[in-house]
Amino acid sequence: MKLAKKTALITGILGQDGPYLARLLLEKDYKVYGLIRRYSNPNFSNTDFLGVTGDVEFVTGDMTDEKSLMTIFKLITPDEVYNLAAQSFVGVSWEQPKTTTEINSLGVLYLLNAIRQVCPGARFFQASTGDLFGNNSINGIQDEDVPFKPRSPYAVTKLYAYWMAVNFRESYDMFCANGILFNHESPIRGQEFVTRKITTGAARIKLGLADELILGNIDARRDWGFAGDYVEAMWLMLQHQRPDDYVIATGEVHSIREFLQTAFKRLELGNWERYVKFDPKFSRPTEVHTLWGSPEKARKTLGWSPKVRFEALVHMMVDSDMARLKA
Ligand code: NDP
Ligand code: GDP
Repeated sequence: MKLAKKTALITGILGQDGPYLARLLLEKDYKVYGLIRRYSNPNFSNTDFLGVTGDVEFVTGDMTDEKSLMTIFKLITPDEVYNLAAQSFVGVSWEQPKTTTEINSLGVLYLLNAIRQVCPGARFFQASTGDLFGNNSINGIQDEDVPFKPRSPYAVTKLYAYWMAVNFRESYDMFCANGILFNHESPIRGQEFVTRKITTGAARIKLGLADELILGNIDARRDWGFAGDYVEAMWLMLQHQRPDDYVIATGEVHSIREFLQTAFKRLELGNWERYVKFDPKFSRPTEVHTLWGSPEKARKTLGWSPKVRFEALVHMMVDSDMARLKA
């Protein structure tokens, strides 16, 4: 007898992580549904990049519209729900705090309500963030024992979602897991994030399409991993016998200066300082100076560890941007 395929719903399917997760689940023979908003011209470039556009079934709804989510849940009754949808850019969250709250906080409440009412046995993954810790750490490192101290409207909205997922787990015995994801990047990372801005900017300079790159605070440090590795952790969390919350990080930290140096060196552009200018408009009212996670719990409990390291990640992104711009 052939077992029925598992069904997964991914919100945020057209972003960075959605296509990587869809590819992983399709390889594991899931039936994959992807939530997209209603657009006149939807942009499938990220799912195209990973070759999954034709294999995902897209369903239209909006994280801010509870009824639309309820209708989708009744239609597909998923076994697993991966909530990747968000207004995910920290910088914009000061300019649009209400929209950010509606999507990142209330949207999660709506999803949890829909699961509880329609398919309470479904497993739920919430994309939480290392930004929850703000500048708090224990000896410089952030693990599950470090108290949260969010420093942006984005992080505050994600704090609500984190605790709501925990609360549904405790109140209703639902399978809800938070991945406390540290920064993760890829060739399809949004272009306003600092890594992709640097790799695209350096490639443009190399090709003579630009002569400078304008950034904010380049002394900040981040624990940058590869999105393709992080979606494996998301899946593993939902396969574990017990729902729990895990830091997902590489355990390595680098400054933006190091990122610049590695990217410009890859293109043999000489000293990056010749090209990089500062504009305070890219600085933030409150900054998180260092995000540096410990993936020990995920390693011990889930057997997860990142495969792509810093230099390989930077090279992958630079090479991809060069190829794209040349084409
Ligand atoms: P992206 O910003 O690339 O993707 C987010 C997706 O959410 C987009 O496809 C967007 O759709 C969708 N979305 C936004 N608003 C709505 C809405 N109202 N209804 C339906 N869909 C909506 O994020 P990433 O893929 O990088 O990140 C995935 C998740 O992980 C996010 O929740 C993010 O906050 C979290 N995270 C990411 C980290 C990272 O370093 N990448 C670190 C920590 C957490 P559209 O295409 O229509 O705009
Ligand atoms: P975040 O960690 O989720 O906020 O990811 P980002 O890639 O947006 O920012 C990482 C760090 O880079 C933050 O400390 C930013 O202040 C810093 N940064 C410096 N210059 C820039 C810039 O031009 N754009 C962005 N997005 N971040 C910048």
